[in-house]
Amino acid sequence: MAAGSSQAADVAVVGAGLSGLGAAKALADSGHEVVVLEARDRVGGRLLNADLGDGVQVDLGGQWVGSDHTRVQGLAAELGIGIFPQYGKGRNLLDVAGTRRLYRGTIPRLGLGVLWDVFVARRRIARLAAGVSAERPWAAERAAELDGQTLAGWCEANVRTPIARELIGLAGRTVWGTGPEELSMLHVLFYVSSAGSFDKLVDTEGGAQQDRLVGGAQALPLGLAVSLGDRVRLSSPVSRIEHGDDSVRVFAGEVEVEAQRAIVAVPPAIAARIEFDPPLPAQRQLLERHLRPGTLNKCVALYEEPFWRADGLSGESVTDIGPVTLTFDCSPPDGSSGVMLGFVGGPEAREMEAMAPADRRDAVLACFEKLYGPRAAEPVDYAEQAWAGEEWSGGGPTSNFGPGGWTVTGPALREPVGPIHWAGTETATVWSGYMEGALQAGERAAAEILRSVR
Ligand SMILES: Cc1cc2nc3c(=O)[nH]c(=O)nc-3n(C[C@H](O)[C@H](O)[C@H](O)COP(=O)(O)OP(=O)(O)OC[C@H]3O[C@@H](n4cnc5c(N)ncnc54)[C@H](O)[C@@H]3O)c2cc1C
Repeated sequence: MAAGSSQAADVAVVGAGLSGLGAAKALADSGHEVVVLEARDRVGGRLLNADLGDGVQVDLGGQWVGSDHTRVQGLAAELGIGIFPQYGKGRNLLDVAGTRRLYRGTIPRLGLGVLWDVFVARRRIARLAAGVSAERPWAAERAAELDGQTLAGWCEANVRTPIARELIGLAGRTVWGTGPEELSMLHVLFYVSSAGSFDKLVDTEGGAQQDRLVGGAQALPLGLAVSLGDRVRLSSPVSRIEHGDDSVRVFAGEVEVEAQRAIVAVPPAIAARIEFDPPLPAQRQLLERHLRPGTLNKCVALYEEPFWRADGLSGESVTDIGPVTLTFDCSPPDGSSGVMLGFVGGPEAREMEAMAPADRRDAVLACFEKLYGPRAAEPVDYAEQAWAGEEWSGGGPTSNFGPGGWTVTGPALREPVGPIHWAGTETATVWSGYMEGALQAGERAAAEILRSVR
């Protein structure tokens, strides 16, 4: 289709992330005319591969496939993309409050009091999450009370030892890209409920960090885009959607698509920049202001070899050294070179944004050096991705509700507005915030349309 043209379709999809592409593929497979409008000059949204030199692929966005991420596993198999386990041999490191400990598995070796505290907190969270449905968190029995509390406030009241509170906060900075003082406790419970358990969120083996994709996770949307062909229009930021009872007109620069339905598959805070005519209901507009993207930076350093393995270390560490709070060995499957990944999330990520690029690199490498020794200070290459500064993402890994968000605006999350349907990982009820959730949300939005369109 030439620029400046108008096109008719059954469905216009806004956003060529995994969710929008998954929805478009389902609709195209059912014989519907689909157009996908993507703002960037690439597909994949929060999935982004980078080449660190000599063909070493790293993921600067989403990367892990969880043990029960069946949709992602199925799509990878369909596209012929291999899956391999996250490297996990050797011991993990915990470097918190100036003390260094080595451990295996998810739970660090801590004093018995702290261990008990962490165990009790996890059990309490599991019990509370069992009463919160991922479909309707606002309808939980204690919804108002839990939504009025932050994760930090809940920990203050329920977790005795400061170190156990610190550990939960550190985990939260990576899981949500947000400090515990900014997160609604009801949101935490919704997230746990959509993942199945708190343990699955933080575990490697058997959890969300179990496997990686050969060639990087962006291979998934790239593969979907190939099968959709010229139905995907890049560099087409949607700025306006006019909607009637049974039709939409979607405007993206010079392009105009007239369709029966639209699926908006972009993070809610980013959808807020689209002009809707007539305007969206007040509760939906409020939701787009409340559901805020987290702040998560990925910092990756390339080395000639994964030298920490020879020291018996897995490369996984939890630390409050700063600015990095969590590291992982993200070397290629054959270990032919070493890639160390560091996450900087929440308030630290915002602080880092104000620093010059060279200072940011120095700060991250200084942290790697403290954890893994002097060789960590001398990488062959280094890359960093700050998602909060990305115009069409606004942050990551997902969007979060602060206090009051779910109970005031939650019911508008998936509720179609006339012919406009909502997708994107934020709207998922299974593994919300993850690639699996993005696919589930796309699947659900496509199914809504298949039920309503001739
Ligand atoms: C640092 C980081 C680490 C992560 N780690 C993991 C992980 O290990 N495992 C995992 O499963 N998940 C992970 N995630 C989350 C995962 O990446 C996301 O859940 C998933 O990619 C979201 O897909 P989506 O399609 O819902 O949204 P997006 O990927 O955000 O796609 C939305 C698309 O819409 C486009 N767009 C926005 N506005 C407009 C507009 N007006 N017009 C047209 N197009 C528009 C955007 O450019 C984008 O392409 C991580 C994310 C980040 C940022």
